[in-house]
Amino acid sequence: MKMYFYYGAMGSSKTANALMTRFNMQEHGKRVILLKPGIDNRDGITTVKSRIGLSAEAMVVKASEKILDVVGDESNYDILIVDEAQFLSKSQVDELRYIVDKGVIVYCYGLKTDFMCNLFEGSKRLLEVADAIREIKSMCRCGRKAIVNARHNEGKIVYDGDQIVLGGDDKYQAMCYQCWVEGKI
Ligand SMILES: [Zn+2]
Repeated sequence: MKMYFYYGAMGSSKTANALMTRFNMQEHGKRVILLKPGIDNRDGITTVKSRIGLSAEAMVVKASEKILDVVGDESNYDILIVDEAQFLSKSQVDELRYIVDKGVIVYCYGLKTDFMCNLFEGSKRLLEVADAIREIKSMCRCGRKAIVNARHNEGKIVYDGDQIVLGGDDKYQAMCYQCWVEGKI
């Protein structure tokens, strides 16, 4: 089986793609688990929502947890879909790799880089070990391809700080590298 990593900038409809993949696989009679890394310590189940209105329930795996402890072994599912996969730890990605080699297809959707244009831990490991890596493209306001997830505050781009800020999704804008360097928000 294979492990896929679909990456894109913020606003590139990764979550919508994840939910459509889930729907399609379920239509084909596959047992699908939707999984999301928990960065805010909430337990259990969460709702994954896309901007175009699709939503579904997802199981949450915290950074301190093992994925296998949350989803059980490969007898429980055919396909694992992970949204926000950039927040997985390196060891969790390695666990997914192990699960793939037990006969499960794993689809990971996430950002490649943070607001400083550095790889996330989970994305780095996915780039290293995924069987297939695909980009979901989106556009900067200027028309070039968006590759940076700029963080902004009071109308200005922020170039340093903590990698993860909870509840601040409206503080990001996907843009091309050139606009980001020039601070064109
Ligand atoms: Zn641009």
